[in-house]
Amino acid sequence: VWQHVLEHIRRNITEVEYHTWFERIRPLGIREGVLELAVPTSFALDWIKRHYAPLIQEALGLLGAQVPRFELLVVPGAAQPVQVDIFQAVPQADQGKSKLNPKYTFENFVVGPNNNLAHAAAVAVAESPGKAYNPLFIYGGVGLGKTHLMHAVGHSVAKRFPSLKIEYVSTETFTNELINAIREDRMAEFRERYRSVDLLLVDDIQFIAGKERTQEEFFHTFNALFEAHKQIILSSDRPPKDILTLEARLRSRFEWGLITDIQPPDLETRIAILKMNAEQRGLRIGEDVLEYIARQVTSNIRELEGALMRVVAYASLNGVELTRQVAAKALSDIFAPREVEVDPQEIVRVVAEHFGLRPEDLVGGGRRKEVVLPRQMAMFLVRELTRASLPEIGQLFGGRDHTTVLYAIQKVQELSESDREVQAILRTLKEKVG
Ligand code: ADP
Ligand code: MG
Repeated sequence: VWQHVLEHIRRNITEVEYHTWFERIRPLGIREGVLELAVPTSFALDWIKRHYAPLIQEALGLLGAQVPRFELLVVPGAAQPVQVDIFQAVPQADQGKSKLNPKYTFENFVVGPNNNLAHAAAVAVAESPGKAYNPLFIYGGVGLGKTHLMHAVGHSVAKRFPSLKIEYVSTETFTNELINAIREDRMAEFRERYRSVDLLLVDDIQFIAGKERTQEEFFHTFNALFEAHKQIILSSDRPPKDILTLEARLRSRFEWGLITDIQPPDLETRIAILKMNAEQRGLRIGEDVLEYIARQVTSNIRELEGALMRVVAYASLNGVELTRQVAAKALSDIFAPREVEVDPQEIVRVVAEHFGLRPEDLVGGGRRKEVVLPRQMAMFLVRELTRASLPEIGQLFGGRDHTTVLYAIQKVQELSESDREVQAILRTLKEKVG
């Protein structure tokens, strides 16, 4: 059935895109009403999420699938496709609430010293929306649970006060809807929609920076709701004072209520999160294994969960018992100690030398077979060993387009998984560079 979703997607994008991004997505199953999809790398995850999330959502919706939500997880070398019947999963949630991820509840939120204040504030707001802290402003780094907490308030309010209208929106969506409303002359409708809610959850408000028209409109939405004692919750990756080019009048409003932060979890909290995760998936995993994983991934809970999935997949693929050693093996290549930043020019030089070419050949325009693969490998290594962005890599390699770079990287990634010789060459090159 996942095949039908893929077919819809395939019809809507180019073959290259499809091949690059979708052929290696694997449905893992359905957990609490959310379809979990495995992607091979966190790079792929970011990319797919940023560019194709609406398309995937649309495909699921169009096909009448009963799973309104999906989530991407990084599971390198993911297993064979599992048969997932998404047409007979969970009953469709009702409209307003359906944008809330059913997994993101207070029950599923592990409280630790890093997040207990934000958690307490969220609970207080959920108990008396509009009366406790307004607005509630939650900030913290990526993958630390801001979205989870917001949704948890949404669920809790929906349960406690079924008549209240709840709206969850990312700042990106808010902006896009605003642009569409302006273009299609539907501003009245847009305003009505956001000003008639009792609880407004706006995620990643930092993205409002620099968007004047959105700030203007949001200012009025905010005032309308605030004056009517409606609850507003905002999340951001930084506190209001650090959001540059945020109008002063908006900044001061964001500071009217309570500002609370979420810090990276400590070891105990990370272990507790893994434990809960494993239990929910019906997995029995030893304490020492959980602790091992928790020690490797320290600053992003999404990655922590990804590491758990990877370890589990690795053990089951190899048909071995999941011990600490097996976990270490499964995680060895992602958490191998990173060398200090490498100079991209040095990578080009080393790769050229290895293949008996000149550095100019690699960054030049030649399309001879002997230079194409070395060049792709060089791009791959620059991506892996430095912080250069795709456009920067394109620049380095003679002004190539970032999609060309992307294609090269994916190609080498694939080869490195299927071709031992390529694997060996890459290893040698890395040693020489490092
Ligand atoms: P953010 O919005 O801050 O980037 P998310 O809310 O999307 O982060 O959280 C990332 C992942 O980590 C989600 O799967 C979420 O359920 C999980 N998570 C975050 N914090 C906790 C927590 N305290 N307990 C359990 N799971 C958590
Ligand atoms: Mg978030």
